[in-house]
Amino acid sequence: MARYTGPVCRLCRRSGEKLMLKGDRCFTPKCAVDRRNRPPGAQKSSRFRRLSDRGVQLREKQKARYVYGMFERQFRRFFETAEKQEGITTDNLLVALERRLDSVVLRLGFADSLSQARQLVEHGHFLLNGRRSDVPSITVKEGDIISWREGSTRTEYYKTLAKTIESKTVAPWLKLDKQTLTGQVINLPTPEEVENKVVSKNIVEYYSR
Ligand code: SF4
Repeated sequence: MARYTGPVCRLCRRSGEKLMLKGDRCFTPKCAVDRRNRPPGAQKSSRFRRLSDRGVQLREKQKARYVYGMFERQFRRFFETAEKQEGITTDNLLVALERRLDSVVLRLGFADSLSQARQLVEHGHFLLNGRRSDVPSITVKEGDIISWREGSTRTEYYKTLAKTIESKTVAPWLKLDKQTLTGQVINLPTPEEVENKVVSKNIVEYYSR
């Protein structure tokens, strides 16, 4: 199954909830869920269909996949790794998703949404421990350092970010040097520290069938 590349607000409307895929816009009255909370293509009077248990599990899995912009195969691989680890699978999966490089870029305040963070990583703007890294799904470890590539520090985007970074919130498990815009993973996130609580037991049940 391929990655969805259409209008992301449709994904929120299909899920019936705000998945916060568009950064600041999600907090404005322009949010499509706030304006039209019904499935895409449905009449004004339409309601969300009642789903079977399997349908609920599928929707929860798709929701997490949409939020992290992952292919089905990739997401399943994360799940299988989380399942093999010690502890609770949902917690392991939640933490594994949060440790992706694109997610770390977002949590450091370098982007407004995960899709923007993913794009910045894919365009090769970052160094991971001094080496260029353009793979959004790379998993960070404790002590890893995320910095901007020298060429990227001359872009307008970087210059604007340097002026506005003071107002950004950094996740508690990360440290940011606001002068050099260099981030460090000071410890791995706990499930409680993960902002996107998109993993539920429904996902475990979906894959366990
Ligand atoms: Fe979802 Fe954000 Fe679009 Fe609202 S604005 S529908 S939360 S992506």
